[in-house]
Amino acid sequence: MDIRIGQGYDVHALGDGLRLVLGGVEIAHTKGCIAHSDGDVAIHAICDALLGTLALGDIGKLFPDTDAAYKGIDSKILLHKVCDEIYSRGYKISNIDCTIAMQRPKLRPHIDTMREVLAREMGITPDRVSIKATTTERLGFEGREEGVSAYAVALVCKE
Ligand code: MG
Repeated sequence: MDIRIGQGYDVHALGDGLRLVLGGVEIAHTKGCIAHSDGDVAIHAICDALLGTLALGDIGKLFPDTDAAYKGIDSKILLHKVCDEIYSRGYKISNIDCTIAMQRPKLRPHIDTMREVLAREMGITPDRVSIKATTTERLGFEGREEGVSAYAVALVCKE
């Protein structure tokens, strides 16, 4: 059994009046992420974790933010493409664990929906997708509500 681990990290600044999309789910809020894509930091961190498992580079290499094709793109499409890269090399996704750091709003009510949406997108079951949320106790850029960060790890395996 060939087992590979990868980690990913992403940050986006928050801006007033923008859509907030996290873990593939649109969340009602007064601020959203400033980004070339839909700014889904959770998916971006997960994509980088998955790419890291097989040393395939990072999301910026696969989907350059200078490419107009990715302007405003639904990050679920990026995740789907990243999973194709993993599956085409004969690996299965064992599990994903992601933590989103954001002061406000409370993400708890959206976590299970995120897990279901992401699992469907990755072709795995929700019990293999962990999403966690934390505040940073009002410290740092997340605590000042200037931005959102996400951390992820992924494990893939091949028989
Ligand atoms: Mg990003």
